[in-house]
Amino acid sequence: MTSPDTSSSDFIRNIIVADLQSNKYDGRVVTRFPPEPNGYLHIGHAKSICLNFGVAGEYRGGVCHLRFDDTNPTREDVEYVNSIQEDVRWLGFDWGPHLYYASDYFEALYQFAEQLIREGKAYVDSLSAAEIREHRGTLTEPGRESPYRTRSVEENLDLFRRMRAGEFADGAHVLRAKIDMASPNLNMRDPTIYRIRWAAHHRTGDDWCIYPMYDYAHALSDSIEQITHSLCTLEFEDHRPLYDWTLEELDVYRSQQIEFARLNLTNTIMSKRRLLELVQGGHVSGWDDPRMPTLSGLRRRGYTPEAIRNFCDHIGISKRDTVVDMALLEHCLREDLNRRAPRAMAILHPLKVVIENYPEGQSQEFEAVNNPEDPAMGSRKVPFSREIYIERDDFRENPPSRFFRLAPGREVRLRYACYITCREVVKDPQTGEVTELRCTYDPESVGGSSPDGRRVRGTLHWVSAPHSCPAEVRLYDYLLLDRDGEEPADNRDFISLLNPNSLEVLTGCRVEPSLGEAAPGGRYQFERQGYFCADSVDSKPGAPVFNRTVSLRDSWARIEQSQGRGGG
Ligand code: ATP
Ligand code: MG
Repeated sequence: MTSPDTSSSDFIRNIIVADLQSNKYDGRVVTRFPPEPNGYLHIGHAKSICLNFGVAGEYRGGVCHLRFDDTNPTREDVEYVNSIQEDVRWLGFDWGPHLYYASDYFEALYQFAEQLIREGKAYVDSLSAAEIREHRGTLTEPGRESPYRTRSVEENLDLFRRMRAGEFADGAHVLRAKIDMASPNLNMRDPTIYRIRWAAHHRTGDDWCIYPMYDYAHALSDSIEQITHSLCTLEFEDHRPLYDWTLEELDVYRSQQIEFARLNLTNTIMSKRRLLELVQGGHVSGWDDPRMPTLSGLRRRGYTPEAIRNFCDHIGISKRDTVVDMALLEHCLREDLNRRAPRAMAILHPLKVVIENYPEGQSQEFEAVNNPEDPAMGSRKVPFSREIYIERDDFRENPPSRFFRLAPGREVRLRYACYITCREVVKDPQTGEVTELRCTYDPESVGGSSPDGRRVRGTLHWVSAPHSCPAEVRLYDYLLLDRDGEEPADNRDFISLLNPNSLEVLTGCRVEPSLGEAAPGGRYQFERQGYFCADSVDSKPGAPVFNRTVSLRDSWARIEQSQGRGGG
């Protein structure tokens, strides 16, 4: 959990501390995370979740609400409501009894709207949507008042009640706040606060055919819940005057909206609308495709909640929009997995090796450390026999000068086992492809000792052919090809940026026996290869499927080192 001493102070925490000192909210800190249930949560939402729940957790009595902003029935669904709760919990946060729905406030919001009408602060407009847009003006031109703006309170009340009663079709009327058509802020030019929408809602069914607009519903939901600090992303800065107007005019609890910069990441997109396009267009297998930046995708990919929370701590909170390098997220993940993932040996592209001087039918076990970072994780036994597999890449018939792995006549170390020397290369007579290596081992080297102080430069991972388990391995790469310094892909034609090689499926891999029974979701470091996890959907004991979570090469640590900041 975010602890006060690691999360450095930021401008939002400074505001909260000042508010506590001045007793602005009677010493209360109440935040909320308000997703619209129209898609799955993504890593950008994680930033907001860590901030809202994190901040609340840092102050005595602080509380964070989970509120579904479910005011748009046509785009929302219980599937999303459920996945959002699961994802927030998975990230490690708990809303306790504070689970709310904007739809629970529909009656209250309606009553507030009548109050605005009675006070002459709202009116029913009967212009079409296009006419309203046209009357709205532009940034350089003031708007024009609707001819319906001067309707009497009685007429407005009557029409609004009939809107609720279902007497009109979609678009026939809207309810607008009566503010200022000449305001330089377009959001203040008599914004629509209710519209007719003949659509069933996932919670209120057919109870309503009018629905409140986001800005109006959001401000009042905050107020009803007596939220003290309503933290949202920068694009709502221009909406703050409307937020304040709503609470002031209705003279209700004054929550305070504070904006911070949203998270953008290289090599991916984040808007739910865009992510939905990927799902619906079949570009990915679903919201939880391991290439997706969704929390369910990251989870299936093998990400840990700790890594994501550390990442959010690391990027901090500011008012300036930036694009964060995906390498930083991966760096945080490696740091966490390095500590907790047991090591294992897996061969992704097997090449058979026959050890000619090892007796047929015999086998033995070697002791292998589970995690050199954590002795408490112990060790396991790895079987060894006359036939093993090594990585095809670890052999070269004509090795280049700095290649220290196996080659004809060369000796290497098999990790945890012994030294072997390559004696003969067997090839397919037709294709010339290397199909098998014939080697010998040095019995003196068994158990890792070095006979007569002989030095070998290469150490290879391996699995025993008869003991190993066949596996499928899915290698994932970035979803989007992205070039440095470009705008976030959300703003561009992202389909053309899709990485055609974002998934490579390897069948016929061989993994050490302990991996054969890997529990779905189990995370490992495959020695020399990277971090992998057993796929939570497709992996079965005896027929494991592994996702590559992330490779071992940490480009972020190298960037930091080269800039003299020291490796993470
Ligand atoms: P999207 O653009 O992905 O559809 P949204 O803002 O419409 O996101 P909501 O469900 O309304 O999605 O978001 C819930 C909360 O998460 C909001 O407070 C929003 O400001 C915050 N949020 C959404 N995206 C990000 C992001 N990239 N970085 C930080 N916070 C975000
Ligand atoms: Mg939104």
